[in-house]
Amino acid sequence: MKILLATHNRHKIDEIREIFADFPIDFLSAADVPNLPEPVEDGDTFEANARKKAVELAQASGMWALADDSGLEVDALGGAPGVHSARYAGEPCNHARNNDKLLAALADVPPEKRTARFRCVAALASPDGDVRTVSGFCPGHIATERHGAAGFGYDPLFIPEGETQTFAELGPEIKNSMSHRGRAMARAKAEWGPLLRSLADA
Ligand code: IMP
Repeated sequence: MKILLATHNRHKIDEIREIFADFPIDFLSAADVPNLPEPVEDGDTFEANARKKAVELAQASGMWALADDSGLEVDALGGAPGVHSARYAGEPCNHARNNDKLLAALADVPPEKRTARFRCVAALASPDGDVRTVSGFCPGHIATERHGAAGFGYDPLFIPEGETQTFAELGPEIKNSMSHRGRAMARAKAEWGPLLRSLADA
């Protein structure tokens, strides 16, 4: 069975493929299918954006589509960057500048007040527009400087609760076992597993 992943983000695609490695699903990326629309992520919530991306790409492609909308909420910044995480430092999406801006915004914030969480909402849409969602989050805090080279986005600055290293130092296996995306996809497997297996058998 083929499912279209409603993203061009190679890191997200690799993480989702790895998490669903034990499922009989062939994940295509949005770059593998010609002439797809580029959904505008103008929702106020991760849920609204995930639904929009999944539904638009499922309808345009005629395939089942899975979208992930995710981001970082920092308590000392009132929950920012939140749904604006990808473009926190302006267009285009630039992870290095986003990390610089986050470090500058937290320059005077002491370690105990640097609490944050990653959130992820995953949406699965059928070609006729039926859509369902699951979510996951991962609590942690923001380091005072970058550490590590793995992953993407804010990974060099995010230390998950119970760890002393950033996601970028911990690497993909540990990250997937505790991350917002790993937790949302674990729920997706539990809740949508029977549906996905029945589609794969059809
Ligand atoms: P989206 O593509 O609109 O969902 O934007 C997600 C943005 O949130 C990314 O560009 C990153 O800045 C951030 N983000 C989401 N998930 C992660 C993650 O697992 N690690 C680091 N940053 C992430």
